[in-house]
Amino acid sequence: MAQYLDSVPFSGIIRIRDMMYGVKDPFRLDQGDVSFDAPETVKDAMRRAIDENRTHYLQTTGVPRLLELLAAKLRTVNGIPVGASDEIMVTTGGIHALYLLCQALLEPGDEVVMPDPEWPPAAGNILAARGIPVPCSLHERIGWRFDLAELESKITPRTRAIYVNSPQNPTGGVLTREDIERIAAVARAHDIWVISDEAYEDVVFEGAQHVSAASLPGMYERTLSFFTFSKTYAMTGLRLGYVVARDPKLRERMKKVLFYTASNISSVVQYGGIGALEGSQACIEAFRTELQHRRDLFYAGIREHAAGVLSGEPPRGAFYAFLRIDPSWRANRENRSESLSWAMAEYLISQGRIGCVPGVDFGANGEGYIRFCFARDRRELTGALESMKGLFGEKERLRA
Ligand code: PMP
Repeated sequence: MAQYLDSVPFSGIIRIRDMMYGVKDPFRLDQGDVSFDAPETVKDAMRRAIDENRTHYLQTTGVPRLLELLAAKLRTVNGIPVGASDEIMVTTGGIHALYLLCQALLEPGDEVVMPDPEWPPAAGNILAARGIPVPCSLHERIGWRFDLAELESKITPRTRAIYVNSPQNPTGGVLTREDIERIAAVARAHDIWVISDEAYEDVVFEGAQHVSAASLPGMYERTLSFFTFSKTYAMTGLRLGYVVARDPKLRERMKKVLFYTASNISSVVQYGGIGALEGSQACIEAFRTELQHRRDLFYAGIREHAAGVLSGEPPRGAFYAFLRIDPSWRANRENRSESLSWAMAEYLISQGRIGCVPGVDFGANGEGYIRFCFARDRRELTGALESMKGLFGEKERLRA
């Protein structure tokens, strides 16, 4: 029996989800989902595909037109020197791309250096491929980025790859071009790979710049980059992602896993992807601008209603508020939860109907923090903030 899978942890988000189902009229700030709808260009293309009976098996790695459009996008938007479109593979969301590349890249016992805190499926997929996640702290004081000397100190002869995710979930940290250049130099010096998770490539604020590791000189050959339509085109439930790699051997292995796990990705969804890329790209900027408003609204509310309890700087990317919990908050409560971040999550969910995820679920370094998603609509955000006002305002009254 595959006992090693017993040591792959479930994400705490599952426990949170179950708790949320027990809450009447919840504010779902726990889920990393946008409240926007997919653009009409996507829905029209999917309707057309259904009407034209495009409901049959397809090429394993993707519809040629979609691969062509993605190759053009990767070259022009990301600066990745993609040769032919067969360097790309379409997947069931970014998470499936991550699964493919971990299966293709890792030998049992291979180490992957990764951020702490991090998106739980990253460690989960490394473990499922019998690799070993090696956490390296992100530091709040430098905008949730790596200390690069610390990162390099984590490299051992067993290191196969460094996993980077910028903009990052859960912290919203964005690595600078210099950060990526230094990580690339480390990868070259130690002859290791970079796994580059670019799910939030389009969600950057105030001049922060997204840099694709594979666009740097000599890096495409040693980088596995993956992307998703989930955030950029509000297509989370449609499940469309892609991975791009120059190395033919790795691509062949990924193609086998792709075929054996999915045969091909849903035809209708792939046509939706073509619609997204052929249509106007105005939605990307519109989503970004609206997300920035929501971020500012949420942080203004936190400053007003949760002062002295929750704090943090607005992030430069992604759409999460990763807020520090003042340790004195628990001192005034009876909650016996195993950790400060779980105590806060349980309190906000049970007393305030506010969905959130405890920081410790993202790694030991996330303990003492709580994550909210501010990509929910303004009414939901305002409702959650009002509820917080009731909770923390009451606390202040009791203290007084
Ligand atoms: N990477 C990160 C960091 C994410 O947060 C997500 C989605 N939550 C993904 C990748 C993949 O998203 P999807 O599977 O919906 O494409």
